[in-house]
Amino acid sequence: MDSYIVKPGKKIDITDYDPDDESQFSQGKQAGLERLSELTQKLDKLQEILYAEHKHKILVVLQARDAGGKDGTIRAVLSGINPQGVNIVSFKVPTAIELDHDYLWRIHQHLPAKGEMVVFNRSHYEDVLVVRVHNLITMDECKRRYTQIKQFEQMQAEEGTTILKLFLNVSKDEQKKRFQERLDIPEKNWKFNPGDLSERDLWPDYSKAYEDAINETSTSFSPWYIIPANHNWYRNLCVAEILVNTLESLDMHYPVPTTDLSQVVIK
Ligand code: AMP
Ligand code: MG
Repeated sequence: MDSYIVKPGKKIDITDYDPDDESQFSQGKQAGLERLSELTQKLDKLQEILYAEHKHKILVVLQARDAGGKDGTIRAVLSGINPQGVNIVSFKVPTAIELDHDYLWRIHQHLPAKGEMVVFNRSHYEDVLVVRVHNLITMDECKRRYTQIKQFEQMQAEEGTTILKLFLNVSKDEQKKRFQERLDIPEKNWKFNPGDLSERDLWPDYSKAYEDAINETSTSFSPWYIIPANHNWYRNLCVAEILVNTLESLDMHYPVPTTDLSQVVIK
């Protein structure tokens, strides 16, 4: 999955990334679904050790355009995990109270503590994406925010947080298809938001905002991955592989008992 990492310092062109790509798994969808099921079981085990060891903190940032598949990814990839083991935080349009604080205020309080895994469904990146596209900040402010975000993430990494940032990359055609399903399928009607259509009209502006944000904030301690997201099974597989690989690389262990358990007698 390393081919989807944006290497720090490398300036990517977002249009070079193919949302239909399936190149990192050649065995096709059926085998992909079986592999995903193995990975979700592994994730459950890894999460238990993460919690038991009480050392590392895991933050997964999910960003995507509307209908980009954030919710579906969370459901599929985390389906095997103990519901107590992961905290999902969705960031919406800021409230009046949130707007009275700096944009990282609402983020900071949801960051993972030791032994915790947190998934952000949208994140502080909205404050350099939607906010930039709608000119709620100037370009100078936006550039300052890239630096602030990098420093904020560096501080978290130095304090023991492993950060993964995933951009789920869908094509404009695929988004159209998904919006159309929301109109056509009664059970999906509730997901249709007319406001999403005006955001769709701003597609090139969002492309540029994503490209700049990714280029400016992909670092060794907090890398961005650009995940091909037109095919759900492949997107889920990529995200699960990246999560499992990252957790395995932490070399976590169950804690060693502090007393000699062989001497414990239960009466
Ligand atoms: P959804 O994820 O579909 O529930 O929608 C959440 C909405 O909140 C999206 O339209 C986001 O762009 C918007 N949103 C999230 N964070 C911010 C932010 N910091 N400023 C403005 N809008 C935001
Ligand atoms: Mg939405």
